[in-house]
Amino acid sequence: MWMKLCSKCGERAEIELDYARMHLCDRCFVDFYERKVRETVKKYKMIGKEDKVAVAVSGGKDSAALLFVLRKLFPDLSITAVHINVEIPGYSEECEQKFRELARIVGVDSIVYNTREKLGITTPDFQKTVYKDRICSPCGTIKRYLLNKIALENGFTKVATGHNLDDTVEVLFNLYVQGDIQQLVRLRPVAPSTHPKLVTKIKPLIEMTEKENLLYALKNQLPFKEAPCPLASGSRSRERKKLLEMIEGKMRGFKHTLFSSHVKRILPVLEEGVKLPSFVECSSCGMPSSEDPCAFCRRIKMVRGNP
Ligand code: AMP
Ligand code: ZN
Repeated sequence: MWMKLCSKCGERAEIELDYARMHLCDRCFVDFYERKVRETVKKYKMIGKEDKVAVAVSGGKDSAALLFVLRKLFPDLSITAVHINVEIPGYSEECEQKFRELARIVGVDSIVYNTREKLGITTPDFQKTVYKDRICSPCGTIKRYLLNKIALENGFTKVATGHNLDDTVEVLFNLYVQGDIQQLVRLRPVAPSTHPKLVTKIKPLIEMTEKENLLYALKNQLPFKEAPCPLASGSRSRERKKLLEMIEGKMRGFKHTLFSSHVKRILPVLEEGVKLPSFVECSSCGMPSSEDPCAFCRRIKMVRGNP
């Protein structure tokens, strides 16, 4: 068999990136990855010099890569790593451990928020509610709310998450199939603050594939938890991902193209035409929301019951 050579430097290639028709050696891959993240950050004007960025780190590969690459690309930027421990047995403890290890290696301040200690609830509590078969939904709502709240209370100006291209395209595909315009208009690289209590959200890895994030985390020997969350059912999501993988196999660059068409061509039209619901103040927590009580307070109440 022929030895593949790096498309950039001609050395022996270790990595194949199908969508870009490239073979890369380890060094050129790391260089390529970092350039691409820098381009994404610049293209969507994600970060300014004065920003104080809260990087949401789950303990998984994507957000590990995110924290490491942001520190490397922007050494003078104010960065704090934030982790939410939702107390899933056999999972969350190790995620927090990986998080602490990573924050130490990268050399950033860190905040750990434990939902049992602070709120008296955990994600497994939702197994007793109507969410028992789709526990990711309340868990996601709670984490999103808390990340915003933590950012607000600590004066962070941006919340960065490690959402990758594969996950984004899977959600995008689903939203198009369902014609969910309200959610489609929210699916974007930057969600600017639309209320003084809502901090701008940025997704610097939104154009990086899952494989690229994994390789970057591995090449840099970052600590991360490999096993997926044991409570995530995810079978439908896995099926959809397989389907999209098949399309990618027949149409090279399909995922990148779908995402870029969405951002460049569809989003500007949607943003003009779709009216997002206006805010009311949640009577329970005071945060802006489209409903009162807000989604977070309703979920919490579901588990705690009426006081
Ligand atoms: P997921 O929806 O689990 O793929 O997570 C998407 C992004 O949300 C991750 O890349 C992280 O940036 C953030 N995130 C998820 N879970 C947590 C957590 N427990 N603590 C902090 N950030 C998280
Ligand atoms: Zn509320």
